[in-house]
Amino acid sequence: MEDIIIEKVERKSKIELPDNLVFGKIFTDHVFEMDYDASKGGWQKPTIKKFENLSISPAAMVFHYGQAIFEGLKAYKQVDGRIALFRPEKNVERLNRSAKRLCIPEVNPDLALKAIIELIKVDKDWIPSKPGFSLYIRPFIIATEPCFGVRPADNYKFMIILSPVGPYYPEGFLPVPIMVTDKYVRAVKKGTGDCKAAGNYAAGLLAQAEAKKEGYSQILWLDAIEQKYIEEVGAMNIFVRFKNEVATPMLSGSILPGITRMSVIQLLKDWGYNVSERLISIQEIIDAYDKGELIEIFGTGTAAVISSVSRLKYNDKVLQFSDTTSGELATKLYEELTGIQYGRIEDRYGWITFVE
Ligand SMILES: *Cc1c(COP(=O)(O)O)cnc(C)c1O
Repeated sequence: MEDIIIEKVERKSKIELPDNLVFGKIFTDHVFEMDYDASKGGWQKPTIKKFENLSISPAAMVFHYGQAIFEGLKAYKQVDGRIALFRPEKNVERLNRSAKRLCIPEVNPDLALKAIIELIKVDKDWIPSKPGFSLYIRPFIIATEPCFGVRPADNYKFMIILSPVGPYYPEGFLPVPIMVTDKYVRAVKKGTGDCKAAGNYAAGLLAQAEAKKEGYSQILWLDAIEQKYIEEVGAMNIFVRFKNEVATPMLSGSILPGITRMSVIQLLKDWGYNVSERLISIQEIIDAYDKGELIEIFGTGTAAVISSVSRLKYNDKVLQFSDTTSGELATKLYEELTGIQYGRIEDRYGWITFVE
C-alpha cells in the first residue's frame, strides 16, 4: 500500500471551540485528498494537506449528473484520552458499495481506513473532550472530469474532511417530532436509496421543509410502491418497540443499511429482546398504538446515535409519546452505545479501532 504524503500546516493560534458547537460548521486544518485519473491508471498519490477551497472546473460532471457519494463516522476521545473509532471498516465497506452503484471507482479499503486514521492523528488536537462531543469524519468522492456527457466520469476526487461536533440536538438527548409522508417518496427498490449518494438527500429536502413548517423536525418515509410500509427517517433508521417485539424495517433495497442499526440489532438480541427485521406497515403502528401495545419508537444513526420519537403524525392521526423524556429502551441503547464509544463500557464486540 502506498504511503500517504503528509504536508502539515503549522497553526499559529490555539484551537478554540465555541461552547455551543453547531453540527458540521467548523472544520479542522487538514484534509485527505486523492485523485483518480483513468488515463494514468487509477488512483493517484494519497495526500494529507491544508484545508482550503478547491479549484474545480464548472463543467465537472458532479455538478451536472450528480456522481457523488459520502460517508459519516466519528472519532471519540475516550475517558483515558485514547482516540476511538466505531466500526470504521463498515463505513469503508459501505463507501465502496455506494461507489459501485454510482459507477465510481472503488478505493483500497485498507488505504481508506489508514487515511482516516492518519488524518485524525494530524488533527487530533481538534477532538473535543467534553462529554457528548466528538470529531465527525466525512469521507466523500465526487466526479471531477469536465464534460457534458451522461456516462461515468474518468476523473474523481476522494476526500476526507473533519468537523468537531457537539451533541446532534442542541437541546440534548430529547425526543423529536416526526411526520410520515405519502406525498413524496425518497427512494425505490433497485434505485440508490441503499447508498449514501448525495442525490438521495436533495430528493428529500422538499418534504423535510414542509414538515418543518408543521413543526416536525424529520420525515419518516414510506415505501415508494405502495406507500404503506415504513422505511426510514432522513438520516436515521427506525425501530418500533411493540409490546412483545422490537421491529425494524428489513433492508429491502431502498433503505440505507445503518451501522448503528446493525449494532442495535446485535445488542438487542444479546439482551434477549425479540428483534425482527420485517415489513412494518404504518397501519400496524397506528393499530398497536390504539390498543396500547406500542411502547416507543426511536431512530438510529451516527450523528445522533439514538433519537426517541416524541410525536408521530400520519395524515390526521397523531401518536403522542413523551416530549421531554426519551423512551426506556432508547435510553438504555444510547447509554450502551455511547458507553462503548467513550470507553466507559467494555468493548466486548471488538467494535472499537484505536487511532493511537
Ligand atoms: C447515514 C444514514 C443512516 C444511518 O447510518 P449509520 O451508519 O448508522 O450512521 C440511515 N439512513 C440514512 C438515509 C442515512 O443516510
